[in-house]
Amino acid sequence: MNHENIVTKINNILPQTQCRLCTYKDCLSYAKAVAKGDRLDRCIPGSDQVIIDIAKIIKKDPSPFLGKIKQKDFTTVEINQDDCIGCLKCIMECPVDAILGARQYLHEVISQECTGCNLCVAACPTDCISSTDNLVEYNKNLSKKRYENKQLRLSKKSLVNTNIENSEISIKSKQEYINKILRKDVIKSQNS
Ligand code: SF4
Ligand code: SF4
Ligand code: SF4
Repeated sequence: MNHENIVTKINNILPQTQCRLCTYKDCLSYAKAVAKGDRLDRCIPGSDQVIIDIAKIIKKDPSPFLGKIKQKDFTTVEINQDDCIGCLKCIMECPVDAILGARQYLHEVISQECTGCNLCVAACPTDCISSTDNLVEYNKNLSKKRYENKQLRLSKKSLVNTNIENSEISIKSKQEYINKILRKDVIKSQNS
């Protein structure tokens, strides 16, 4: 199996919450790190099962890593509608598009898509997002897809912004060039 296939296989068995608890920016980054030799027990939501599954892929003994991850229940979150100011910050932060809303409108968590990553909780300026008692029940494959789609959307947006910036730079430099010529013409006409 080549390196790319190993990374894909590892990524596919990770929980796809994109919670960053492994200290990497997403599941794929951790998959790449593990394929290069990082330790197997960094994925908190994946716990021992993920360690065993990764070990099978990279043909490594999982036993030194087992039992080290402190078990944690991942539960969905909810938004207290009374305090929501519709600022969009939670939507921007949610890696898997599990929040619905629009600027200055109340926001709502789609509970069956919420992975319990809690990233939105810290992002909310009014502290109106909190954990429920409901264990997460998201579909891992759909969560992965939603994350990838979001990344694609963000990269297209940044490409558009770069193009706008570049065209602004180009307009600015054209204006400066025209101004330069006009100044030269004024000086010429003053001297003649
Ligand atoms: S689910 Fe696991 S691998 Fe993915 S970001 Fe969270 S801790 Fe890292
Ligand atoms: S709604 Fe919040 S806790 Fe749920 S997946 Fe999105 S960011 Fe994570
Ligand atoms: S971050 Fe908080 S206040 Fe802002 S839209 Fe989300 S829930 Fe509402």
